[in-house]
Amino acid sequence: MVGPVYQVRLEKMGIQTFKDLIYHIPTRYLDFRLKSPVSRLQIGDTTTIKGNIDSVKNLYTRSGKKIQLAQVSDTSGKVDVLWFNQPFLIKTLKEGETHSFSGKVDWFGRKKAMISPLIDTEGIVPVYPETYGISSKWLRGRIKTVYKLIGENLKEYLPQTYGFMDLPSAIKEIHFPNEPEKTGKARERLAFDELLALQITNLKRKALWQKNHPVYELKINRKEINQFIESLPFNLTESQEKVIDEIISDFQKPYPMNRLLEGDVGSGKTVVATTAAYISFLNGYQSVIMAPTQILAQQHFDTLNSLLQPFKVRISLITSSISKSDLGRTDIFVGTHSLIHQKIYMDKVALVIIDEQHKFGVEQREHLVKKMGKNNISPHVLTMTATPIPRTVALTFYGDLDLSTLNETPAGRQKISTWILPKEKRQNAYRWINDNIENNKSQIFIVCPLIEESEAETLKDIKSVTKEYQSLKKVFKGKKLGLLHGRLKAEEKSRVVENFRNHKLDILVATPVVEVGIDIPNATIMVIEAADRFGLAELHQLRGRVGRGKKKSYCLLFYQNEGVKSKTRLSAMEKGISGFELAELDLKLRGPGEIFGLRQSGIPELKIASWTDIELIKKAKIVAEKLSNNNV
Ligand code: ADP
Ligand code: MG
Repeated sequence: MVGPVYQVRLEKMGIQTFKDLIYHIPTRYLDFRLKSPVSRLQIGDTTTIKGNIDSVKNLYTRSGKKIQLAQVSDTSGKVDVLWFNQPFLIKTLKEGETHSFSGKVDWFGRKKAMISPLIDTEGIVPVYPETYGISSKWLRGRIKTVYKLIGENLKEYLPQTYGFMDLPSAIKEIHFPNEPEKTGKARERLAFDELLALQITNLKRKALWQKNHPVYELKINRKEINQFIESLPFNLTESQEKVIDEIISDFQKPYPMNRLLEGDVGSGKTVVATTAAYISFLNGYQSVIMAPTQILAQQHFDTLNSLLQPFKVRISLITSSISKSDLGRTDIFVGTHSLIHQKIYMDKVALVIIDEQHKFGVEQREHLVKKMGKNNISPHVLTMTATPIPRTVALTFYGDLDLSTLNETPAGRQKISTWILPKEKRQNAYRWINDNIENNKSQIFIVCPLIEESEAETLKDIKSVTKEYQSLKKVFKGKKLGLLHGRLKAEEKSRVVENFRNHKLDILVATPVVEVGIDIPNATIMVIEAADRFGLAELHQLRGRVGRGKKKSYCLLFYQNEGVKSKTRLSAMEKGISGFELAELDLKLRGPGEIFGLRQSGIPELKIASWTDIELIKKAKIVAEKLSNNNV
């Protein structure tokens, strides 16, 4: 029905079937129900006229553009109607015919004219999002054709409509509305369908996960677990204890755990993960911990080694350069995604832990879990994230996971003071930082943003952060500065981070690569350049690199854009509100595409429904559960 070019374009928009097309819905409507007599047209009007075509011809401007000019008259008068570069119109519009024209009235030279109007589209006209070279007009035509073909066959599939508009009416009203008032109801119904489909997928996935996967039996030896907990250099927080209990209870079920541990930055997720891995070890099984970066894998390796050393647990760090023969018998493997690709012999993995799970694609996660399953036995899976997930998102996209939250930070931490600074304050700020290095031995992160919106660093970014590093070296003469970005060699990266950790550096200049997980409790000042370019959740993550010890910490946010909007948004950072609240706020202010890399986590964007509609999301969940209960 469409040519190959359009087919590709449609596929890019996610449209492959008639059904996809029917569910491609307008973003707004033009109301051309009112008709104006030609003599009453005013400059600036958007309206419809209906009249006879007195003449129609192609004109050529001096710059070589083609204009299609028609003269249209009704009983009240006549007016020029024109289009640009649509010569084929001459063939469709014939002298003597009557047509309606809907569009805007404007000056053309010294005369009033209707410019580029729609032809014969009276009434309420849907406007579709135009992307990938597909016009709203083209879509209107195709949707009409498809609707003629399949509209009759559309059937309500819900046993009861739960107060929503029925499906056939909703499809009709959304594309061919008679009254604009009804399009809201129609949209609501279609949004509900979208959410319901997601919820049903969740339920199916959950049922499948639990049905077909036997697990290794993990016995819980409270005494030994407590010995480990008592050996820690601190007391666990109440929420850490609670989450450990939730994991223990999962371990005792006949199907694998699939739990998402959500905990604000610095809430102490690592020790929870370590405890889980220790329980697996106590039962004679192995565990695997995957982290998104080399730096973080190294850090976990060190942390686990120091916490588990007294218990004779053997831990291996898996990097891209490791060879099989380097590995002895291992109880816990720690590594980056190279865990997926390396041919390491792991025979008895009872537990897979994925840290900062949003940094991995869904496929990577599934790959790892699949690879670890042996003899049809599945590992338990614990995924962790410091990205506060708004409740609506958690309900929709992680509906198949059990959720644990660490909602308190360890005792003895002080609130981080956050200042939002214009560039005029820069010299003062630098002096203040200098004093802090000299008098308090403070350590400082200075984070530069990525220049272009992209997930990875470009060469341009590296250049700009390197330049900043060079000029800061001049500002902070006699101090020790380090540079960290994603394009450094792995060994170089670890060397820089270790130097900072061991206080061989005062200042670490970095791209946002420091965002994930680095734990250096001695660092107390975080400077973020062009802070308005970051999302609030991201800023919160970055800021979370300080304030991890007992010392008072500070966060300095320099902004670039003087706009009121970005300043108000940033001011939320001063208010000491939690990561969860910041994420909700981000969702409202910047929309879902922007927040915490939703895209890279493999979560598709909602097409019709909205993230802020908690009521509709909850209803979809309830109905999905009802439907699946009826099916059993
Ligand atoms: P995140 O949740 O951001 O991954 P980490 O697990 O890296 O946090 O922990 C942050 C810091 O807090 C670490 O230095 C860790 O040793 C420390 N920590 C964790 N739990 C506690 C606790 N209960 N009391 C005091 N410090 C803790
Ligand atoms: Mg962490």
